[in-house]
Amino acid sequence: MTLPLIDGALFLDATAFEKYTTCRRSFQYYFLHKRESVGQRPALEAGAIFHEAMLVRRKLEHKMSLELYELAQEGAIHRCYQGWTPPLDDFRTESHLIDVIRAYNRSPIMQNTFTPLIGLDGEPMAEVPFAEYLMTVTTANDWDIPVYWCGRLDYPTLWGDELWNLDYKTTTMDNGFDEYLNNHAQIGYLWALWKKTKKLPAGFAIDLVLWRKPSAKGKGIEFKRHRERIERTRIEEWFNTTCMIVEDIIRDSKANRLPMETAWCKGKWGCCPYLDICKLPPDNRQLLLESAFYKDVTWNPLRQP
Ligand code: SF4
Repeated sequence: MTLPLIDGALFLDATAFEKYTTCRRSFQYYFLHKRESVGQRPALEAGAIFHEAMLVRRKLEHKMSLELYELAQEGAIHRCYQGWTPPLDDFRTESHLIDVIRAYNRSPIMQNTFTPLIGLDGEPMAEVPFAEYLMTVTTANDWDIPVYWCGRLDYPTLWGDELWNLDYKTTTMDNGFDEYLNNHAQIGYLWALWKKTKKLPAGFAIDLVLWRKPSAKGKGIEFKRHRERIERTRIEEWFNTTCMIVEDIIRDSKANRLPMETAWCKGKWGCCPYLDICKLPPDNRQLLLESAFYKDVTWNPLRQP
């Protein structure tokens, strides 16, 4: 299969690695064919709007009061909802998201105990895009393919004199922090931050934003924060492991060796969005992938917040 090179280079983000290391067929559909389901994904859409609102806060909070930067956040949320309408039965409405942001801004456990890193533009760094060189792979045709690890850092920050990366996670389910503690993306963000700043990060923090359908009894909005120290050797191990996976990705893609790994067809978040394709006889799959039920992948961490 043809690799989606940009100027001869391969850019791999967290989603590409996650798909390759769970089900290689989903990697093929998502990363090589660049097709994804047109189905509404309110959790992802609303999560992106939350990030947009936090970007506004990080850029403004050091120069104005909570009430003023919160107004700017609400304006940003409103603008985002002009371009996206949640399904009628979904609770992630504009007013719900404004309630979440207001609660986050006042939550005692989410208070700032850190100082922002200042970028070259003199502004606090937030939602920082990165594309850091990983390695060059020489293919069987003697072509050299430079490979980059790319993504966005939600909020690189200083705790005392230590460098940390703070990542926001919006979710309806409280599964604790275990899924993040050995997470490829989280440790990879530290590697990118290390390369970008030349300073070894101490670890990552996760701000868990639990938003649920408001109910009379349960808590609709809840916050949790966890900080995880990561040793230098684990970040170095991430680099070595990632380079091995990159070689596998290029080898498997070129050899079209991208089997279905069916343990992932139904996960904790529901069915895989490609299940309707995989259930078809092989000859019919391409037709459905190219149909109006799927659309081009346009997400690019280097362009979008
Ligand atoms: S439906 Fe199953 S086999 Fe097909 S891409 Fe998804 S996880 Fe892989």
